[in-house]
Amino acid sequence: MPNSAIPFDNTYARELSGFYEPCQPAMVREPVLLFFNHGLAEELGIEAGRDDAALAAMFSGNALPEGAQPIAQAYSGHQFGQFNPQLGDGRALLIGEVIDRHGRRRDIALKGSGRTPFSRRGDGKAAVGPMLREVLIGEVMHALGIPTTRALAVVSSGEPVFRERALPGAILTRVAASHLRVGTFQYFAAHGAPEQVRHLADYAIARHFPELAGAEERYLGFLRAVAERQAALIAQWMHAGFIHGVMNTDNMGIPGESIDFGPCAFMEAFDPRAVFSSIDEMGRYAYEAQPRIARWNLARLAETLLPLIADNEGRAIELATEVIDGFMAHYQHYWLAGLRAKLGLRGSVKHGDHVDTALGESWLDLLHAQQVDYTLAWRRLADAAAGNEAPLRAMFSGQPGLDRWLQRWRERCAAEDVEPGAANARAESMRRVNPWLIARNHRVEEALAAASDEGDLAPFEQLLLALRRPFDEDPALARYAEPAPGAFMAEFRTFCGT
Ligand code: AMP
Ligand code: MG
Repeated sequence: MPNSAIPFDNTYARELSGFYEPCQPAMVREPVLLFFNHGLAEELGIEAGRDDAALAAMFSGNALPEGAQPIAQAYSGHQFGQFNPQLGDGRALLIGEVIDRHGRRRDIALKGSGRTPFSRRGDGKAAVGPMLREVLIGEVMHALGIPTTRALAVVSSGEPVFRERALPGAILTRVAASHLRVGTFQYFAAHGAPEQVRHLADYAIARHFPELAGAEERYLGFLRAVAERQAALIAQWMHAGFIHGVMNTDNMGIPGESIDFGPCAFMEAFDPRAVFSSIDEMGRYAYEAQPRIARWNLARLAETLLPLIADNEGRAIELATEVIDGFMAHYQHYWLAGLRAKLGLRGSVKHGDHVDTALGESWLDLLHAQQVDYTLAWRRLADAAAGNEAPLRAMFSGQPGLDRWLQRWRERCAAEDVEPGAANARAESMRRVNPWLIARNHRVEEALAAASDEGDLAPFEQLLLALRRPFDEDPALARYAEPAPGAFMAEFRTFCGT
């Protein structure tokens, strides 16, 4: 193999003909490499021994690497509750799959690479700002330990894309465990092709849940496994204060990764009803709605699988309903485990689930009532665990509620403290799960504006560097940890990256 080759092994293109349209990326005028993820390239086994111009040519789509087989995948989706049977990759192309250094199969896809048979009225393009945004969010999610798609490269095209105004165009290269979505299943179910749904399910099982291959009731098991991963994922989002913003069924991945960072945002002052997306007028995808919406999306997946679950439709519905009804309990399980870690609690005590859930909910109520910054409050709670309460107290205006809560928390901690030095060990463990940094919306906007409007990548690069170490408190990076001015958040809206 020449060292410039990428060792592609394209199972989707090979095994799922009829599930995509072959399509070439559009040539772009002047590709310039804006971002390259060397760490991820290394993980993928892609030789980094190329210069920037070669990488730009490759990851703009101008000169696809040998073995790439660009295809636009078909999918449908419920968008804000409305079913759209005909979506698909309107501005993305899967160029191939590789097995990474850990033996995991990963998709490599371009986004913003031009029109495809699924483009409808869209131009198939993307702008620099939203694509760099995908980099920042994907990298911080990864650094936070949350399963996510990640950016391998961003290349500017040297061409304008026309939105409300002309913006510099770009192509993102995205790496995902796969791009199978709930919407992929919906597409073939909606087009009356139960055999294709089966074929797709078999493919998804072999790729993501190989332990189910050949098992009896494997399609029910598949539904259960997808639901389980979503339960774990959404619990992590909730603990990070992450709001996806557009949890349509075409944006929910089968492998359980966070995907499609359009109008997403991290919460600042805690508010369960927080919603930032400019198009989410009804708050369908608000912070607190996310577990419920995940369940709703999984029910849509279940519907596509019914004919595979049992021959008797009534029986199939019964079995699938059991799985969907079990989602909230699974979610609660993951949420509670994450909560305990955030609170510095190692295990449960007698009747503990109820006690700890109530303790966590009271804490969140307190943050909400006093509009306290979600991320920093947790971080300062870790300081309080180590005996330094002042920074936490400074975040709250009214103290009695906080005093009462701290008293409860300390009693709960005492129930498991036996060894000396427990307080410091607790603080340390809390600092490993409660980040000091998240992607602050004003810092993200500032970095993207500099890159997009002035071609200045320095703020983006500095922010990225900081976001890659979200658990390390570093006074030199304090500007990235500070909450946005209240006025900024009051006005802050995010937009779909179209
Ligand atoms: P998204 O909101 O980015 O998840 O996209 C929803 C659907 O719209 C997908 O089928 C996309 O491929 C399609 N889409 C979004 N933006 C464009 C665009 N600029 N051109 C063509 N299709 C697009
Ligand atoms: Mg999408």
